[in-house]
Amino acid sequence: MVWFTEYQTENVGLTIKAKEVKTINSKYQEIIVLDTEEFGKVLVLDGAVQTTEKDEFMYHEMLVHPALIKHPQPQRVLIIGGGDGGSVREALKHKSVEEVHLCEIDEEVIFVSEKYFPSISSKLRDEKVKIFIEDGNQFLEERKNYYDVIIMDSSDPIGPAEVLFQESFYKKVKSSLRKNGIMVAQTESPFLQEKYFKNAVKEIKKVFKYVGVYTGFVPTYPAGMWSYTLASDDVNVLDNVNKDRLDNIETKYIDEYLYTNLFAIPKFIKNMIE
Ligand code: SAM
Repeated sequence: MVWFTEYQTENVGLTIKAKEVKTINSKYQEIIVLDTEEFGKVLVLDGAVQTTEKDEFMYHEMLVHPALIKHPQPQRVLIIGGGDGGSVREALKHKSVEEVHLCEIDEEVIFVSEKYFPSISSKLRDEKVKIFIEDGNQFLEERKNYYDVIIMDSSDPIGPAEVLFQESFYKKVKSSLRKNGIMVAQTESPFLQEKYFKNAVKEIKKVFKYVGVYTGFVPTYPAGMWSYTLASDDVNVLDNVNKDRLDNIETKYIDEYLYTNLFAIPKFIKNMIE
């Protein structure tokens, strides 16, 4: 048994007891797989917990479903990052979806997820899924006016993911969306990563007409509180439409009540972004 600590900020860490620790060095990052009693398998990239078998549904459901439900008829979905496959699995639960493109910079994350996280990566080889091993920022250069929903499932804004949180990148996202297109991005912890959170929302607001921020619990992420930001130029993402679509989707976290009250977020967070 070893105690593994993720240093979430300069002053705060998350420590989990692990039965086994496997380390793989890819071209881009250090990948660690922990086998733990409490969270099952845990995926760690460059020291930061990305997902765990026990709480991944909280993050993936909240990231994916609101954007897909708000879109009138989502057919083409792009996920940037997300090599573990959790967002792909959730996106495919929507019957109207015809193709899911996954743009992940690090192929090794996909291999590791397929080997150690079968319940998360289960749909990566679905016939509707096409995987691109590329930098998301470059990938969008060639794809204009194509996607209905773009999901930013990236790691923290450090290293190769830094650019994915900037205005210039969100402009590319906008031009890769077709009519009624919606973007959703994971936008970090408003409590322990206030600077990252505020900056991401600020940059998104510079580019899109309608922007909506919501929060959710993810126990292994900093402060256990996570933020997500929806954005569109055509669809008012603040409207709570199509909630009956959730009837046909199997979920463990989001339900109609939560979806209807998606933007009921704590006052101190509203104050940060107004
Ligand atoms: N759920 C996670 C979180 O919020 O902590 C994110 C999970 S996902 C595994 C993040 C992925 O983004 C990583 O696999 C990483 O390799 C990928 N990534 C980082 N920068 C990228 C880029 N510029 N283009 C595409 N993928 C990128």
